Amino acid sequence: MRRSGTVILLAATFLSAIVFGIQAKAPASRTVSVATKQGRRAVIEGDIYLRVPVPKRGGLRAVALRYTGDSGDDELIAKANPRRRGRRLVEARIPFDLLSQLYADETIAALFPKDRRTKNGWEHRWERGSWSDLARWFARDAKSGPNLREANRKIKRFRRGELVFIPYGLLGEPFRRFGQGGEEERQPPKPQPAEEEPPVAPPPAPSEPPPPRPPAAEEQAQPDAVRALLSYGEDSQGRFAAYKLQAKEALYSAVVVRFTGNVDASDVNALAMQIAKRSGIKDVTAIPVGFSVKIPLNNLLPQYLPQDDARYKAWLVNQDETNAVKNPIRSEALDGVVVILDAGHGGLDRGAVKNGVWEDSYVYDIVCRIHEGLEKRTKARVLLTLLDPGLGLKPQEKSGLTPNTGAVILTHPWFHQESTSETKVEVNLRWYLANQYFERLVKEGLDPGRIVFTSVHADSLHPSLRGSMFYIPGTPYRSTKWSQAGSAYARYAEYKAKPVYSLSEKQLIRSEGLSRQFARKMEEAFASKGLPLHPYNPTRDHVVRGRRPWVPAVLRDSETPCSVLLEVCNIANKQDAALLKDPNYRQAVAEAYIEALIRYYS
Ligand SMILES: [Zn+2]
Repeated sequence: MRRSGTVILLAATFLSAIVFGIQAKAPASRTVSVATKQGRRAVIEGDIYLRVPVPKRGGLRAVALRYTGDSGDDELIAKANPRRRGRRLVEARIPFDLLSQLYADETIAALFPKDRRTKNGWEHRWERGSWSDLARWFARDAKSGPNLREANRKIKRFRRGELVFIPYGLLGEPFRRFGQGGEEERQPPKPQPAEEEPPVAPPPAPSEPPPPRPPAAEEQAQPDAVRALLSYGEDSQGRFAAYKLQAKEALYSAVVVRFTGNVDASDVNALAMQIAKRSGIKDVTAIPVGFSVKIPLNNLLPQYLPQDDARYKAWLVNQDETNAVKNPIRSEALDGVVVILDAGHGGLDRGAVKNGVWEDSYVYDIVCRIHEGLEKRTKARVLLTLLDPGLGLKPQEKSGLTPNTGAVILTHPWFHQESTSETKVEVNLRWYLANQYFERLVKEGLDPGRIVFTSVHADSLHPSLRGSMFYIPGTPYRSTKWSQAGSAYARYAEYKAKPVYSLSEKQLIRSEGLSRQFARKMEEAFASKGLPLHPYNPTRDHVVRGRRPWVPAVLRDSETPCSVLLEVCNIANKQDAALLKDPNYRQAVAEAYIEALIRYYS
């Protein structure tokens, strides 16, 4: 990385700040300016900007096209350059976050020539600024000041040249990608400099036949075909659906799992016994082929109810409404797409533990792999809710992982679970944080359709079940207004910024529709990579467990329209548990996920 120019300190106030080592908020008049190339200057004017000459022809649209890659950014640039009416702008400052990586690299190299990107973050040699200044520049968020300070506890007072470490989890996007900007094109500048390698796989060409869908997905796409397997009747115990058991089918899977949606081991077994009793079955291991099994209507998934049932009608209306929802956004190589990733559990919470494997560190490793793949091979941006600062974000190429006990939720301040009684607080802080990411992105002008939220978990189900499942926020299981009360949340900036959320019924339906479309792409992508899928209904709009149907809190309370919870496999199944331990499987899941994103935006 070349650098040129000298630092010019314009304001005397700033000089005195250095002399006296003042760490308090620096005066606004302070300016750092470093000349780079072709009349450009990298500057700090509160935040970081690149000042560039504005051509007479093309004006700000040309500036935007060249330096951000999107001529539509001209309005955002205009906002950063207040001027008198009628006066032509000869030089414009471009907000740092808008710059394409090529020019972000140029700006970073000029302003912080002694700094260094490391595997786990960024090493900054202190020259100036308070913790909140450093947070604004490097984390792209002034509110991260306390977290940055926490990560550099040994620094009591700044000294020139002192090493300040910005952990990867805090590090802003342009710094994470430092060095990936490539070389500047000779004139004329290309509108969109080729900045990254091509994505994992090109989107399928329109002429290609659609990828094979797993039978399970087919079944879910056509619940009518499954419903046709049932007949309905009534006896002294009330109405029921009857299913004739086929050869090699077992009661618990072919009936209970398939038609009632139950997956939890004890729920499945209890309901199988109940259904056996109601159907007059004495021995569940010796049911004759063709035997008519009676399933009480209140246990059926709504899509399998008789047509005159109110729950079925409501389900049908909901399907029509959500299927009509479309995400018009298309993106090449996920350019302009932001993925909010939530690795389940961590801290004191291991999540599910079965067959010598547990959720937290294994799903965290998958998130690290998704993150790495997206950053290396696509143009998507990644935001995280959870980080293990000791571990960083490097995938681990081994089968036995250690629990990531040190993991924190990246709220302001960080949340680290001190007792297992705080699990509920921890879960709620995840969606408060994710929702604030969403709000910030939308405020910055990003189309909500470009944002995807995904929580990654592994399940512990009936041991006969295998494969991935995708949960989406089903409208009937959410409310239009939600909040958490209690002193446990009061200290977090994300909570203070917005304690109460609300979405209209229409927005909830839109969210379900977009989430289902993305989940379907996940079904396709997972199947195309040969990964096992749950045998029936891999995409589900609610959890069937316990007394009432419900949607996990991170989905239920997510403000991001497209939100999916991925259950990578069932660790209560020995084969699935062995898979999760295998780094190759974790990599395959990450790649299938990225493939699904590419398909969703193609
Ligand atoms: Zn979980």
